[in-house]
This record gives sequence, C-alpha cells and structure tokens, in this order.
Amino acid sequence: MSMTIALVGNPNSGKTTLFNQLTGSHQYVGNWPGVTVEKKEGTLKGDHSVRIVDLPGIYSLSPYTQEEVVSRDFLAGGSVDAILNIVDATNLERNLFLTEQLMEFGIPVVVALNQMDIAEKRGYTIRSTQLGFKLGVPVVQVSALKGQGVQDCAAAAIKAAQQHQVPTPVTYAPEFEKAMRQVEAQLPSTVPANLRRYYAIKAFERDEKTLQNLTEPMDVEDVVRKAEEHFDDDAEGIVTDQRYGHITSFIGSVYQKGEQTVSVSQKIDRIMTNRFLALPLFVLIIGLVYYIAVSTVGGVATDWANDGVFGDGWYLGPGQEQLDEATAAFEEGLVSEEPDPALFGMWIPGIPVIVEGWLDAVQCADWLKALVLDGIIGGVGAVLGFVPQIMILFFLLAILEGCGYMSRVAFILDRVFRRFGLSGKTFIPMLIGTGCGVPAIMASRTIESESARRLTVMTTTFVPCSAKLPIIALFAGAIFGGSGLIATLAYFTGIASVIVSGIILRKTKPFYGQTTPFVMELPEYRLPGFFDLLRSMWERAWAFIKKAGTIILLSCILIWFLSNFGWVDGAFTMLEEEQMDLSVLAVVASGVCAIFAPLGFGDWQATAATVTGLIAKENMVGTFAVLYGGEEGLWASLAATYTVPAALSLMMFNLLCAPCFAAMGAIRREMVSWKWFWAAIGWECGFAYGVSLCIFQIGSALTGAVNPLGLVVAVAIIAAVLFGLFRPDPSKKQVIELASQTVDGAAPAA
Ligand code: GDP
Ligand code: MG
Repeated sequence: MSMTIALVGNPNSGKTTLFNQLTGSHQYVGNWPGVTVEKKEGTLKGDHSVRIVDLPGIYSLSPYTQEEVVSRDFLAGGSVDAILNIVDATNLERNLFLTEQLMEFGIPVVVALNQMDIAEKRGYTIRSTQLGFKLGVPVVQVSALKGQGVQDCAAAAIKAAQQHQVPTPVTYAPEFEKAMRQVEAQLPSTVPANLRRYYAIKAFERDEKTLQNLTEPMDVEDVVRKAEEHFDDDAEGIVTDQRYGHITSFIGSVYQKGEQTVSVSQKIDRIMTNRFLALPLFVLIIGLVYYIAVSTVGGVATDWANDGVFGDGWYLGPGQEQLDEATAAFEEGLVSEEPDPALFGMWIPGIPVIVEGWLDAVQCADWLKALVLDGIIGGVGAVLGFVPQIMILFFLLAILEGCGYMSRVAFILDRVFRRFGLSGKTFIPMLIGTGCGVPAIMASRTIESESARRLTVMTTTFVPCSAKLPIIALFAGAIFGGSGLIATLAYFTGIASVIVSGIILRKTKPFYGQTTPFVMELPEYRLPGFFDLLRSMWERAWAFIKKAGTIILLSCILIWFLSNFGWVDGAFTMLEEEQMDLSVLAVVASGVCAIFAPLGFGDWQATAATVTGLIAKENMVGTFAVLYGGEEGLWASLAATYTVPAALSLMMFNLLCAPCFAAMGAIRREMVSWKWFWAAIGWECGFAYGVSLCIFQIGSALTGAVNPLGLVVAVAIIAAVLFGLFRPDPSKKQVIELASQTVDGAAPAA
C-alpha cells in the first residue's frame, strides 16, 4: 500500500534537512525562511511506497502568504495520510501554535521534536513523552542534522497513517467552546465529522477562502459578534489567544529552558549585528569576497583559463619567463636567431591550438574553421573562462550562508530597509538572487503584503546574479586592471538600486501599504560542512556550464553567422574581417543602436551584445568575444573601443536592465498580469537607462569631453530621483487625514 507523509513546520525548523535524511536526496538547505516555496517530493529511503512531501515553512494556516496557501491546499486535498510536524525544540511555544492547528485537519499527526542537539547543548529540559500525552499525538525526539531519531519519526508517522490515528483537537475555554458548538451546528451536513472542527474555527475567523469550499453558504455573524463582545477582541485574535493560552497552561510542566547563559553566537552577534559596526562589517566582508573571487585567486585562475585553456596554451614551469627574455633579447638584436618556443620546457597547447591543428589536418573549409575557432571556441570559451571565478565566489558565499552570517545580514538590512518602508524580507530574495534571479523572484512569495511583494519582484534582479559575474569580470579585466572594487561596486549598486526604487515607488499609489514585521530567529553560528560547501558551489557552477554548452553555444553560432555574412554590392556573401559593418547583424542592430548613443555605446556591437544578453546575461561576453575576438584579443579591443565612462555605463546598463528571458518568465508568473509584467520590465530598463546616462555624461564631463545637452539631461534625472526620494510620503498624509476625520466624527457623540 502506498502512502503520503507531508512534512509541515515553521520556516527554519529543519524540514528540508529531515526531508533529505528521509529520502536521501540533496535539496537545498538554507538557514532563512523562503527557501522552499514550492513543495518538493521524494520517496522514503528503503521503502519507495512511502511518498514524502516537503512543504513550504508556515507559522499558521491562515492564508496570508502564498506559502500558507500552498501548504493548506495540499493538506486539505485529501491525499495526505499523515502529517509529520517538525517542531523546533529550541522554540517550542511558537511551534506548537501550528501543531494545534494541524491537529484540526482530521489527519494523523506525529510531532518530530527537531534540533534536539541544540536544546541539549543549551541544557533545556524537555519531557517529550509527557508533551505527547498533553497534546494527544506521538512525539519523537530528532536531530535532523545529526541524523538521530530520523528512522523513529518515520516509523511513527507510518504507524499513525496505517492505524489512522486522527488526533482529537484541543478544546479551549468554555465560553469559546460554546460559540464553537453553535457554529458547528450550522455547518452543512456535507462536512465530514473529522473536519467539522477545522471548518468551524475557519468560519468563526471569517476565513472567506475556506468557506468558499462549502456547498452551502453559512451565516454565523451573530455568534461571532457575541463572542467578540465577550472576549473584547476580534475573532482571529480570540482564536490566537485561546491557542497560546492553552500552550502556556501546560508548557511549564514539560519544558524548561533552565539557566540562560550567553552563548558564543550571542557574543559574536554583539559585534556582527552591532548598531554601528554591522553595516561597515557587511560592506567589508562582501568587498573581501568579491576581491578574492575577482582579483586575487579567481583572477589568476581566470587568466589561466582564458589565456591558457581557451587561448594559446601554457608552460609547465618557468618556460614562459625564459621565452619572454629570449624574445626580448632577439628583438634588441642581442642574439641573431629567433628563439624556438619548443625549447623552453614543457608547453601545453590550448584548446584552440589543438583544434586548429585537427581542422588543418582534415583540410577543413575556411568558413567552418572560422566558425569553430572564432564562433564556438571563442564565444563559449570566453564564457567558460569565468568558471573559476564563479566557483570561488559561490564557495565563499556558501561559507557566509552556511555559517549563519547571511541570516544576520537579513536582520541588519531589515533595520535599514524598514526605515524606508521596505521589508527586511526583501533581502532574502536578493540574497538568493546572487545565484540566480528565477528562484529569487519566486522567493518573494514569503512577503505577505501584495504591494511589497510586487515591489520585490520588480527590483530583485538588480542584484548581480552568477550570469552577470562574467560581464563584471570582463569589464573589470579589460578596462579596470582586474580591480575587485568594480565587482563590489556592482553588488552595492544593485542593493542601492533596490532601496532607491523602493523608496520612490513606495510613495506612488499602486505601492501604498504597510510593511509587515519580519520575524526570524538567528540560527547559531556553526562551521559549515565542507562537502555541503562543495556541493552548493558545484550545483551553481554546473548550471552555468550547462548553459554555456546549450543556449550560449547556439547563440554564439547564430551571432557568428549573422556577423560574418552580409550583402556586398548587392550579393549575399561571407565577409572579410574588416567588412563586418556590412553584416546582417550590423545592419539590423544599427537600426536601434542610436537609442544607446546618449549612454556612450551607440555602436552596433554593444547593441547586439545587450540584446543577446536577454537570452542569458553571460551571452553578452560570448557575443563580444565573437565580434571583437580577432587578432588583438577581446580585452585589448574592448579597451580600445570604449572610454572608461562608456565602459562603466555599458556594464551598468547590462547589470540593471531587464533580466534574462528565464527571469522575465518568473516575473510574469509571479505578477500574474501582463500589465504588472510590463511595468516591471519598463521600470528596470528605465532605471538602467537613467543610471547609465548619468554615469556616461557626468563621467565624460569629468574627463574633459563635455556634452552640454547630455549634462543637462543627467542633472535633470538626478533632480527627479532626489525629488522622488525626499518628497513627503502622500500615503502618510492620508493616514493622518483619516485619523483626524475619526476624531471629528467622534466629537459630536462625546
Ligand atoms: P526548513 O526551512 O524547515 O526547510 O529548514 P532547513 O532544513 O533548511 O534548516 C534550517 C537550518 O537549521 C539549517 O541551517 C540546518 O542546517 C539547521 N538544522 C536543521 N535541523 C537541525 C538539527 O537537528 N540540529 C541543528 N543543530 N541544526 C539543524
Ligand atoms: Mg526548506
């Protein structure tokens, strides 16, 4: 017989960790809420007839967030045989709040008391058998991280499902129960006995979404009003109070936290989340991460990949230096014979050299040789050359994430964001967005307020994702001498763009609204597992490599054809290298490239690269490599083509403008409406255009090439942004007006 067990629990309680233990899979474990926004499925290791489903983390079953809706719909769907409720033993009260709700679903419930290792280390006393007795459900002690109790809790859940041990819902205060009986009596007879308590409470809470499922409408307003009067609270508040009241009535007898000592984590946090030090430390740490990834270790590795593996090749040992010396000596006329590279130690040819040899050996046609060498190896190789940097960046970010620091950053930035009317929850999608924008946009589902959620969807992709790293690294290398500062600048420009957009848009009508408080426990600092780090790094790097082998490969081939064929004197033909301006690509791109002229890159190559960047951001690098590859090499050609302000403007535009198609698809899905989708894309492109225009015009003026009209436009843009940032918030005024109206309205009665 097959059965389904659903893992349900608060965010961060350890559901995914337990899921991985139970199923033997490797789902992503993050230490902040919102990592699992869609349910994940697997089968129990050792018994594939048991289906295990990891649901998004929730605090309650009221449908305020998308995650709550996903979880609730799934539980109510009738396919779940048992709920394995993961409860964080270090936070029992709040977790049991959900447990009591789950017990009303008419499905067997088993509590897995997780994070027992931490609770024990802190010296908590937990009498789990008695807790189970008080609740009326089996309780199993577990440490998902250490793999302890995992089999036991699975066995308990299977047993509960087989014996169909449906728990008896908790009963609350007599006055409340009286109201419940009255509501229950009015429920349609079609509601089965085991679900009557659940529906009664939802009807009492005036939960429209649940009541829509009933066959007949019901009217319990009188009962609810009377109860509200009696308890002097609104219906939802009453239910919450009853639940917490019940939990506090027995918790002391089964759970003692003992002496609270200051833990090591708390000591570290006194510095890391210190009011004054937190932000500078954050900037410093991120700066260091990008510096290591782009400039030092990553830079060396990337040079090796670009010049060696995807270039001429490399020497083992000091051969290169000796050859350089000998060549210099020859050029100065000190020796008469040109040095033979083969005599300078072991030389390993790069991929293009090897492939060229093969192609020559089979006397391959010139055009095919050019396609393979310049189009495919040149384009794809330029992108793959950045793999070392990407791996190092993600290894370092995984450390920050795994040790618990990134959770602190969410907490620190919440303080900053809240001041601007944004939610700290906005930061979580941004954090995920350093990897890929698609899951980042999906993670916005954790945000309760619809307007704040839309805002987050619109702005998350400002933060550079892994595909944008090659763009940054390319410009950093070609124009800015490999500076790690550029990468850090790009990262913080991304964050600043989110904040600036947030402040400006929050003051416009579609985005009025309250910010919801952000609750999240800070996990203990701990040493991340080395293999977890490797896996997290490899997963992202592999996704990047796969993309290079598919989408980027196809794009590079297409770009090569489009840029090497065109019309010469009315005939369609393959072009010579210096005729590229006549190519199909040049002709098409020239039609639109004028709109980028005010940003400093009105040439057709930059336009083509920007457009191919929409397919996948790193495509921009591949396209540039195909178009500028040639004899001089990509970096030298770029440096010769663009001034510093133009290069910076081109880079920024590509980092901030509309994301790739995959992310656009995610925006469309999360926005659910085309109107909002275009608003998002429009805002991103407009914002990018404004930023790049200012960079180029002001940058050019500073370096001596003043364009009066451009400068005026740049100043006007800055003035408009400042106005948007600092004008009074019209939504606040509305609230004050409303408040004074109520006072006026109340006056005559008094
Ligand atoms: P989810 O949000 O419920 O899916 O929680 P995760 O499985 O992503 O875990 C959240 C964090 O808690 C991660 O950092 C886990 O490594 C950690 N964690 C989960 N279970 C345990 C446990 O039993 N003991 C300890 N010490 N940490 C745990
Ligand atoms: Mg999870």
